[in-house]
Amino acid sequence: MRKWHPDTKRHNETHAFSHRRVKIVATLGPSSSSVEKIRELIEEGVDVCRLNFSHGSHDFHAKLIANVREASKAANKPVAIMQDVQGPKIRCGVLPKEGIELKNGDHVFLYPEGSQPKNAPKGATLLPISAEIALPVSSAVQVGARILFDDGKLQTRALKVNPPEILVEVEVGGRLTSNKGMNLPGTPLSIPCLTEKDLEDIRFGIKQGVDAIAMSFVRSAEDIEELRKICKEQSPEPPILIAKIEREEAVEAMDSIIEAADGLLVARGDMAVELGPERVPAIQKKLIHSCNQLGVPIITATQMLESMIQSPTPTRAEASDVANAVFDGTDAVMLSGETASGQYPLEAVRIMSEIIMEAERSSEFYSGPTDMVPMPGSTVESIEFSASRIAHHVGAVAIACITHSGLAARSLAKFRPETPIIAIMDHEPMVRRLSFIWGVHGVLIPKILATDDLFGMVETVLREQGIAQTDDIVVVTAGIPSLRRGTTNMVKVHKIGR
Ligand code: PGA
Ligand code: MN
Repeated sequence: MRKWHPDTKRHNETHAFSHRRVKIVATLGPSSSSVEKIRELIEEGVDVCRLNFSHGSHDFHAKLIANVREASKAANKPVAIMQDVQGPKIRCGVLPKEGIELKNGDHVFLYPEGSQPKNAPKGATLLPISAEIALPVSSAVQVGARILFDDGKLQTRALKVNPPEILVEVEVGGRLTSNKGMNLPGTPLSIPCLTEKDLEDIRFGIKQGVDAIAMSFVRSAEDIEELRKICKEQSPEPPILIAKIEREEAVEAMDSIIEAADGLLVARGDMAVELGPERVPAIQKKLIHSCNQLGVPIITATQMLESMIQSPTPTRAEASDVANAVFDGTDAVMLSGETASGQYPLEAVRIMSEIIMEAERSSEFYSGPTDMVPMPGSTVESIEFSASRIAHHVGAVAIACITHSGLAARSLAKFRPETPIIAIMDHEPMVRRLSFIWGVHGVLIPKILATDDLFGMVETVLREQGIAQTDDIVVVTAGIPSLRRGTTNMVKVHKIGR
């Protein structure tokens, strides 16, 4: 593993500009819905706000979106909004308020909610499941298949299948309450990846101008392509698409999914239920490694600081989990219940940020610049690869890339330079989309013209942001003279003037 250049320590230690490379995604909810709270979260370090469309009305989400935009402006920091759509999450129906108690060995009869159970054997507990999925699920299930409830806490096995009804035997019992999720590990389902509700939510999200859509229970690259088509029909500037990897089929198809998506999310919650918790760590590493190779951003998610929902400090295992995701090379880490409904949302973000920065400082374990090389024939990758090496050799305080679409900044991030990446852009939605990318600090400026004094502009931006001062060396990349998309062709070592 390569040691970092000793000079570059000053980025972290003595320079006013504090630079955290791995980004923080925070889920919003009842604990974090006001402009004031969201602003505090952003000031503690949140880069992306996630809206979970498994919960909440469109009115609630519209309010959240407006509040994020206002808080981001007040905090003077570009923040992206990621709409997470529920996907074909299978749920059981409405049960009595106190739930039902399932004991090991009990027989349970699953039937479509709202219908009369037809073939229920005597003595079986009746359990309604949502009507739309009862038929496709029961048609796919084989006798002997596992059917799990409530994040896998309750486990059953199919004894008799007679679509749309299923008789199961309880293997691990417990209390089951209304609308809890169901998982069928090992049963491939033909339910479409986007439900009617998802399509409605997506239309709403695009109208509201969300920056990213995370698609749940993706099975293949085609699922992403279908979503891309829908988004393109509805917006000339469609959101970026994040594939949530949480099913066996998606793990098997990871290479083509990485090619099709703009980013991945390691959805460890459902993944642990579908594949077994013991398989999650290696799959996380494999997914991160594969994304890093192609410069596709990846988010590591779920239960990162779970105990902080109720406690102001994390467990040792949680601190290690966050740090290890950083060491693995993740672009971002995510908080779910910790910020959405927990008692300590601000503390969770603060501690997450501290753990990340400490991990990034421990150069012994953190690989820093990778051994990656530019894609043959790619000018932008060649330029950014060289810029990252030059910055390292000359001890630059920043690499400033003037970029239209953000492509140059993403290319730079792929080479994981230890020097901060400052992406200077004149189009706000594109700046926000960089909130997912490792190490990139986006700065929005008024329209860039081809006739502008580029280096003067870079100096002003870097001084204003507290990144550079007189006599500092910076590396600048840009596409001249046109400054249009995909034209990066220049790298300059520049000394900040008086
Ligand atoms: P969810 O996705 O919270 O929407 O289920 C994340 C996960 O499954 O880990
Ligand atoms: Mn999930």
